[in-house]
Amino acid sequence: MRIDRFLSYMQVGSRQSLKALFKAGRIQVDGQVIGNGKFQVTETTVVEVDGEPIHYQTDFYWLLNKPAGVISATTDPQKTVIDLLTPADYRADLFPVGRLDKDTTGLLLLTNDGDLTHSLLSPKKHVSKKYQAKIAGIVTETDQAQFAAGIQLSDFQAQPAQLMILETDEQTQTSLITVEIHEGKFHQVKRMFHAVGKEVLTLQRLTMGSLTLPTDLLPGQYRALTTAEIEALK
Ligand code: URA
Repeated sequence: MRIDRFLSYMQVGSRQSLKALFKAGRIQVDGQVIGNGKFQVTETTVVEVDGEPIHYQTDFYWLLNKPAGVISATTDPQKTVIDLLTPADYRADLFPVGRLDKDTTGLLLLTNDGDLTHSLLSPKKHVSKKYQAKIAGIVTETDQAQFAAGIQLSDFQAQPAQLMILETDEQTQTSLITVEIHEGKFHQVKRMFHAVGKEVLTLQRLTMGSLTLPTDLLPGQYRALTTAEIEALK
């Protein structure tokens, strides 16, 4: 393929904006400056831009710290998680792996890898997800035992879930907890607390399978998964 196509597909820039990079001698292959976009490369060619190697890839993986107020969908009249990507990282074929409620924050994977998505969301795989939540009410050992036994919801029996109490505040009658679940049904955590007579006030996802929300990733920020993180998910 043409090198300008390769570079635009790798999101280095539009074919038009790449012209300036070629002109300025900033594109190299094997130490040789490439002066225009017609030069032919293959998927294994390592193209360098300002000395930085650009490897050909077809699958993209972003770990997003979802802020509250955005929708986990690709298109919606309201702002979506895909709208949070800057134009250079935006791809029409990216989608979120599963859904977090509009008011839920935290770890959300965005990718165009359908096979990985299918495997992470497959009910048979029981990929675990850990959430931190603020709960209205004092969470008790009885609640923990009910979660551990598997809560019965109206339409399904949840797998045993690990409920940990981090803090309880008698004055405000609230609790800070983590809960690890092994499915991903609609509103699952909120419904499980509802089933024990309590309400979720805030909900943040901390982990999904082997992925953990990085503490330095602020709400609305995202970063590419490393090769090791991608391999660990597969
Ligand atoms: N459980 C919920 O209730 N909401 C979420 O967004 C995720 C899990």
